[in-house]
Amino acid sequence: MATVVRQYDLHTHSTYSDGVLGPAGVVDRAVAAGVTCLALSDHDETGGLHEASWRAWELGIELIRGVEISVTWRAHTLHVIGLHIDPDHAGLRAGLARIRAGRHERACRIAQGLERAGVAGSLQGARAHAANPELVSRTHFARYLVQQGHARDLNAAFRRFLGAGAVGYVTHQWAELEEALNWITVSGGLPVLAHPARYKLDHAQREALLSTFRDLGGVAVEVVSGNHTPDQAAVWARYAARFGLLASAGSDFHRPTGGRHGIGHLPELPSGCVPVWTKF
Ligand SMILES: [Zn+2]
Ligand SMILES: [Zn+2]
Repeated sequence: MATVVRQYDLHTHSTYSDGVLGPAGVVDRAVAAGVTCLALSDHDETGGLHEASWRAWELGIELIRGVEISVTWRAHTLHVIGLHIDPDHAGLRAGLARIRAGRHERACRIAQGLERAGVAGSLQGARAHAANPELVSRTHFARYLVQQGHARDLNAAFRRFLGAGAVGYVTHQWAELEEALNWITVSGGLPVLAHPARYKLDHAQREALLSTFRDLGGVAVEVVSGNHTPDQAAVWARYAARFGLLASAGSDFHRPTGGRHGIGHLPELPSGCVPVWTKF
């Protein structure tokens, strides 16, 4: 019997957070790229999973119900993905609702900062770029800033207005790592540390994070990511192996252009990795 090659992409975003395609559009694009097992993992929001599940069912691929939770750990903002979560679980729902309320408050403070820098109407403007009014992110502010001619592109908008030290930068307390892992695991999900190479952590901090993450029930590290170079993937494959964590792969797809890898166009996991999908 021929072996069926499975093509995984376990990290994607729709208009329910800061992606530009609706959930069905994300599934369509994944199918076109040959993905057979897709996770939709919107930021702090599971509202797109219903539509994505239907579309995946129609097209005959597997849709993993996911979410990407924002966490503050030792003053660093981290993202933890839950794969195979139950979006109807009361504990998870309450936790995500709390983070979204915090996001709203943060958006108001960002808008105040931008106002002081002479950028008017940014809260409304960012909202106009957000399909989900409960989820206004910095990316939506960046799109508004570009549209209004305050910045050349999204990267420039982050550098000048939204990144650390800029006028629109506000510190924000997201969920505790322990809470996020708890919400994921009580709802039946597998916690995955997203795009670890993006965090500005030294070796000792990485080790502290991974051992805490594992001890709190963390299962996998996103080794292959649209945010990672091949060298970074190799480094994080070694960290995962050392801490007995499985390896995940996801494009972190937000929009058809931009990002290192398109949806589904991911390199293989480095050799020696145990894929997180062995747990599916
Ligand atoms: Zn992320
Ligand atoms: Zn993401």
